Amino acid sequence: MFDGFIRLVREIYQTEQFIPLHEPRFAGNEKQYLLDVIDSTFVSSVGPYVSQFETKIAEYTGAKHAIATVNGTAALHIALLLAGVQPGEEVITQAVTFVATCNAIHYCGAEPVFVDVDASTLGLSPAALAGFLEQFCEHRDDGVYNKTSGKRIAACLPMHTFGHPCDLAGLIRVCDGYGIPLVEDAAEALGSRLNGRHCGTFGKLGVLSFNGNKIITTGGGGMILTDDADLARRAKHLTTTAKLPHAWKFEHDQVGYNYRMPNLNAALGLAQLEQLPDFVERKRALARRYLDWAQASGAHFVEEPAGTHANYWLNALLLDDLTQRDTFLEFSNTRGVMTRPLWELMSDLPMYKHCQRDGLRQSRQLAERLVNVPSSVVS
Ligand SMILES: *Cc1c(COP(=O)(O)O)cnc(C)c1O
Repeated sequence: MFDGFIRLVREIYQTEQFIPLHEPRFAGNEKQYLLDVIDSTFVSSVGPYVSQFETKIAEYTGAKHAIATVNGTAALHIALLLAGVQPGEEVITQAVTFVATCNAIHYCGAEPVFVDVDASTLGLSPAALAGFLEQFCEHRDDGVYNKTSGKRIAACLPMHTFGHPCDLAGLIRVCDGYGIPLVEDAAEALGSRLNGRHCGTFGKLGVLSFNGNKIITTGGGGMILTDDADLARRAKHLTTTAKLPHAWKFEHDQVGYNYRMPNLNAALGLAQLEQLPDFVERKRALARRYLDWAQASGAHFVEEPAGTHANYWLNALLLDDLTQRDTFLEFSNTRGVMTRPLWELMSDLPMYKHCQRDGLRQSRQLAERLVNVPSSVVS
């Protein structure tokens, strides 16, 4: 099976050289738009490409408003602040995620609480969420409180792992029942849809990332999505140092952030976005090849959840156990085919290991068995 995997990946990418996990592809108007920005001198946080990029992302995702930021972590930080997360509160999230999800919670002065994921979506489990809330939380006048810590549960922050949409209908049902705002970490899910609707547009706010390893890149960048005009206005204000609009005066009415995406990055993003539908098609075709191979060779490929249309940003295999996983990682990486395990569970990291969690049974299973395999768009 391992030899067959190496042969398959080399056949897909048509090279005997090192094959990375994910590399960006610049096959469109990138150079043209970047030169245009340089010629215009508007390389920084003012310039027409930023608002164009926002408009196009709003159109593509169906979000009413999109606010561009310097990276996805900054977008998460602002989205959580706007959802009402305050110091001393808690945010329920998954242990299966990239560290940015938890760091953004921490930047708000809040703490993550970890609830298990579903094996079928790799995302936060509505049943586990309901179970946690029922067991540990109670309604009070100003919200839902964790009886163990005495802290308010300010938000729920699921993540669409590797672009696979989590069970949003289920999560919304639970969150609505408790009046907890839902914020989606859709950093990995640009191009992923559930019942035809784009990930990141179900919650009160959603967040995208355009880091160099994501499905499209701006170098570094992120986006806040929301349908709420007032939240959108506040997101723009907070990410632009809370400066009051004026032709020459510098007046700020609160502590804001220098989080606006520069024009240079937005130009790259606009060129990338033009190719996104093609990237999604090619990634889905690549996933199909992995799936066909897996079915023929008895391997377990992680498929998109039923009823969803995933971007297959990062492809994943499930090995039998920890020993087989480590043998596979060693085998492929020493043969120049990059593969990697799941992130360390957030609940095991030194900064978050004191945080409350449920049993995390599925999360631990995935952490032991899952590997990511090369997923760059095939040219
Ligand atoms: C990439 C990513 C982010 C944001 O990362 P940035 O590098 O700050 O753009 C946030 N959450 C998850 C799950 C991610 O994969």
